Amino acid sequence: MTEKKQYGFTTTILHSDRQKPIEHGSLHKPIHTSVTFGYNDARELASVFQGKQPGYRYGRQGNPTVSALEDKVNRMEDGQSTICFATGMAAIAALTQALLREGDHVVSSSFLFGNTNSLWQTINGQGIKVDFVDATNVANVEAALTPATRIVFVETIANPRTQIADLARIGALCRARGIVYVVDNTMTSPYLFRPKTVGASLVVNALTKSISGHGHALGGSLTDTGEYDWSAYPNIYENYKKGAPAQWGMTQIRAKALRDFGASLGPEATHHIAVGAETIALRLDRECASALAIAHMLEADPRVAAVHYPGLESHPQHALAKDLFRAYGSLFSFELHDGIDCFDYLNRLKLGVSASNLGDTRTLVIPVAHTIFFEMGAERRAAMGIAESLIRVSVGIEDTADLLADFAQALDA
Ligand SMILES: *Cc1c(COP(=O)(O)O)cnc(C)c1O
Repeated sequence: MTEKKQYGFTTTILHSDRQKPIEHGSLHKPIHTSVTFGYNDARELASVFQGKQPGYRYGRQGNPTVSALEDKVNRMEDGQSTICFATGMAAIAALTQALLREGDHVVSSSFLFGNTNSLWQTINGQGIKVDFVDATNVANVEAALTPATRIVFVETIANPRTQIADLARIGALCRARGIVYVVDNTMTSPYLFRPKTVGASLVVNALTKSISGHGHALGGSLTDTGEYDWSAYPNIYENYKKGAPAQWGMTQIRAKALRDFGASLGPEATHHIAVGAETIALRLDRECASALAIAHMLEADPRVAAVHYPGLESHPQHALAKDLFRAYGSLFSFELHDGIDCFDYLNRLKLGVSASNLGDTRTLVIPVAHTIFFEMGAERRAAMGIAESLIRVSVGIEDTADLLADFAQALDA
């Protein structure tokens, strides 16, 4: 395949490794475990260190196996460049480490992955102010902006209540104000949605989830879409204002966050993620279809109090999801009527496994308020719309009919 021809999503990622010469014609990118890389000419080593020629020097900053995955994720997101990290949280933390300084301001969606919420609370006490807003309406984001706002942070579909941020309007607002717009695309994945299309500057993916898909490896990534003009960003150090301004942001993130904080993705984990990534389209087609079928079934059942899934017409942002996303995702949540204990219900499921994580090949279920959102307390849970009986379901690739039967029989018992 040539660079110019536009292939479909899966064709592109399957053949991405072959865009560059691979050792011995190996069909898959090999796992390079060497921590360091030697040069016969010491002057070459110096050139690599000084950024005058490309090359690897030490595994924390770069590794050929990891570079191949960065390239794959970059193609998925139609990005300009991508950096991988040890986990999704490490990718998000990199934003705070590399891009924010004392006195800066961040506006974040209040509907957030629990640990991201916790991270912003920490940053809030370190000389940076973070304000949380209901990002389903751009007016709330706009009202929170100050002259010190550097970053607006949202998730595409929020976990676990599935609220959808006002993605395109927030993108237009950030562009007009010169603010870095960060979109956590984990819940949609680049197969269902490309945040670049709504003007995102940086895209976060927890590779641990749908991109890897099998639950055998942790990883995260940041993709620069090329939409942001880094020459307008006040926090770029003189050192990193080298070459085209389009590169400045990622140059600083690679040095100040990846290199200095050291949350690098290891080559073995990288390999597992790259293998999983090849089948993301096949998995998500099945998972999204099953999620829609189960959500419809539960919504029609009088014993179920509420179902939260963007694919349902009752969802407040259903039209937006239909407009922006290829499908509605593999995750939904629901509340049982009083009188049905959520723990009893979960224990009656035969296929749904009570476990944290999402985007796995197996269907995973979790009582949200008692686990992943326990630490934040009842008050903040209520503010985020998390009912005490809320059950989150991450739909796997099991046969749809088997899942429908399982979720139904657990209600009957
Ligand atoms: C899981 C998740 C993360 C964090 O990823 P890890 O690899 O677990 O650190 C971040 N954002 C969202 C939306 C997630 O679901």
